[in-house]
Amino acid sequence: MNDQHWGPTISADIVVIGGGTAGIGFVASLLKRDPSLNITVIEPSAEHYYQPAWTLVGGGAYTLEDTVRPMSSVMPRQATWLQASVTDIAADRQYLTLDDGRTVGYQNLIVCPGLRLAWEKIEGLQEALGQHGVTSNYSYRHAAYTWELVKGLRGGKAIFTQPPIPIKCAGAPQKALYLSCDHWLKSGVLNKIDVEFNLAGAALFGVPTFVPPLMKYIEKYNARLAFTSNLIKVDGPAKAAWFEVKDAAGNVTVEEKPSICCTSCRRRLLRISSGKAPWPTPPAGAK
Ligand SMILES: Cc1cc2nc3c(=O)[nH]c(=O)nc-3n(C[C@H](O)[C@H](O)[C@H](O)COP(=O)(O)OP(=O)(O)OC[C@H]3O[C@@H](n4cnc5c(N)ncnc54)[C@H](O)[C@@H]3O)c2cc1C
Repeated sequence: MNDQHWGPTISADIVVIGGGTAGIGFVASLLKRDPSLNITVIEPSAEHYYQPAWTLVGGGAYTLEDTVRPMSSVMPRQATWLQASVTDIAADRQYLTLDDGRTVGYQNLIVCPGLRLAWEKIEGLQEALGQHGVTSNYSYRHAAYTWELVKGLRGGKAIFTQPPIPIKCAGAPQKALYLSCDHWLKSGVLNKIDVEFNLAGAALFGVPTFVPPLMKYIEKYNARLAFTSNLIKVDGPAKAAWFEVKDAAGNVTVEEKPSICCTSCRRRLLRISSGKAPWPTPPAGAK
């Protein structure tokens, strides 16, 4: 905002940027303690998404429609909802600028804009997603496609990926693998599928206590682990993916992992759990 700004058009004691899980949960908690608080939530989306359930949609255990609700139905009644995006924060003068030109003054500011998924950081990914057997549970648009692919795979190769932190949910990439393998095991086709889990990090899970129990499932599903292997490029039509692989000495090489489908293979599955670090990134306008 420029120096000609004369003052905010709207004022609130507490302003919350973002009506996602954090924003709505925080506002509900505050209002439970003191219903008289003057709170304004700034959120552009008319829909509120329950993102953790996208993992279950990809595993065939939840319907996509049940993961979305009207924002108006989850917004606490005592709060004022401004349906707009914040484009600028003038912290020194305690006001925000919205994308519709309005300005909002605040006494206290809570910033909950979530993380932006930077699909563009992996070459070819945006073009490939949702077709050619390339999918991601991190996207409302593609979680159902994951289940379609899982159901359709009868043999061949399934590549799962986990990028470097920051990621939205440390468990989500693995849950996709376990749910998929469980379905293939129950369907009697797991022994015809070559399952590979590429992790950018050097451990199956960041908290050591969880590693042994998780390893039992990796062994049960006969999944191959590829550590320090980070997805950098996808070619959907060619059904190939490229990874930056770091060895113990720190040398980095680029490795292509092509489709090695067996004859009974109907599809090959490449499940992208997220992009290249730093991924995700803060949403534009709210850095
Ligand atoms: C596939 C998947 C599985 C997951 N599994 C789990 C799990 O099992 N357990 C778990 O605890 N967590 C899980 N998570 C993570 C969890 O969903 C997130 O941590 C949570 O949604 C974060 O809440 P948030 O409010 O910070 O962000 P979000 O829920 O993303 O909400 C951010 C909101 O801010 C709004 N916004 C963005 N920019 C602006 C702006 N400039 N102005 C105003 N508003 C803006 C957006 O429109 C959005 O509504 C999972 C996530 C995914 C994707």
